[in-house]
Amino acid sequence: MNQPLSNFQMRDAEALLHPYTDAVALRTTGAQIVDRGEGVRVWDQSGRSYIEAMSGLWCAGLGFGNAELVEAARVQMERLPYYHLFSGKSHDTAIELAEKLKAMTPGQMARVFFQSSGSEANDTQIKMAWYMNNALGRPQKKTIVSRKKAYHGTTLATASLTGLPGNHTDFDLPMPGIRHLSTPHFWKEAQEGESEEAFVARLAAEFEALIEAEGAETIAAFIAEPVMGAGGAIVPPMGYFPAMSAIARKHDILTITDEVICGFGRTGEWFGAETVGFEPTSMSMAKQLTAGFVPLSAVAINGEMAEALEANSGKIGTFGHGFTYGGHPVGCAVALKALEIYERMDMPRVVQAMSPRFAAHLKSFEGHPLVGEGRSLGLMGALELGPNGRREGFAKPGKVGAKMVGELKDRGIIARAVVDSIVFCPAMTITEAELDEVFGAVGPALDATLDWAK
Ligand code: PLP
Repeated sequence: MNQPLSNFQMRDAEALLHPYTDAVALRTTGAQIVDRGEGVRVWDQSGRSYIEAMSGLWCAGLGFGNAELVEAARVQMERLPYYHLFSGKSHDTAIELAEKLKAMTPGQMARVFFQSSGSEANDTQIKMAWYMNNALGRPQKKTIVSRKKAYHGTTLATASLTGLPGNHTDFDLPMPGIRHLSTPHFWKEAQEGESEEAFVARLAAEFEALIEAEGAETIAAFIAEPVMGAGGAIVPPMGYFPAMSAIARKHDILTITDEVICGFGRTGEWFGAETVGFEPTSMSMAKQLTAGFVPLSAVAINGEMAEALEANSGKIGTFGHGFTYGGHPVGCAVALKALEIYERMDMPRVVQAMSPRFAAHLKSFEGHPLVGEGRSLGLMGALELGPNGRREGFAKPGKVGAKMVGELKDRGIIARAVVDSIVFCPAMTITEAELDEVFGAVGPALDATLDWAK
């Protein structure tokens, strides 16, 4: 039985339309109204605390309540609360952050372009690829290749890149000019008896076949998250990205790494592309760029792209793209402080040190009757639920996952269900004891879910 809705929950349902929420069901269950956060925990209005094992939406990588980030925002707000980068204007905080990102990103990135969100960053990527190919006199080279289960955002173009049905149904998407390759999820997608090498070779052949069928002269870019996040924390086989990068390079296809979740230490290196061997020509960054404290995203592009875009802006007389809040001084100041903290802590090393414990916890549930796979890379991972662990999944997808997340919530843990994958992405600063607390709740929550499912 659901509790009667609180005053706030009723007001919430009357005033808000929530993203990624069943608005009809919400009228019965009510929203979880979060009041404050400190460390890895948040508190609801009744004073109950939860470990936020998803860092909010994969972004609060330093947890909640960080005084240094607050102070960086305050100081910047007092000095220059707003300025922009349009029409040749600039400010020192954006310059410093762009220099910093150029220095720390792999692949010799030459220029940085700022927006506020991950969707805007990936939308910018598409527009830059098109603008560049028009500038280079190859106007046919426009198709963007993504993957099923990818998540790249929710604007018209980036929701089209996203390979999840819920982002397309009744939105008249995907738009033309987008292709989706297979998901590199070996455990779920491999054919009977197929080795990991053969699986990678099959996915690479699928990419080659697409290029062969449509012509390399029509394909602009391949975009990918090093580890698929919202698709269910899907870790690719380690041979996958080197193979896909080589194919793209051979056909002069841009390689865009979407580091919106994977960036800044999450996978155990500064960027996910480094962990999985993806060679990017450009990068999208957001979320942990500011530790989630304020919105900011960045696109970094290599020298070849920068040269083509800049030359074309000279011909046209402008680079006709930008956002009012792109490079917001407060966002840039908080990002600079977040990067300083990550470097001071040597965040990739912190994640490397904690990730074996995280992985072992996830793996330890593989014998449970509801669990098929416990997978992770760095400090992002998932438990894949299925009847007797079978990879075909449940007859009614999503119901068991939702129940499991509810059981975890009752035990003071906030996780997320992607259909029946239970996803975890805790603050990178989580302690061993806190991690043990998260997974201490998982066993009883699985048992309760199993009882309910019988
Ligand atoms: N790219 C990835 C990999 C993401 O996970 C997300 C959001 O979760 C986005 C892009 C879109 O970012 P935003 O919600 O800030 O538009």
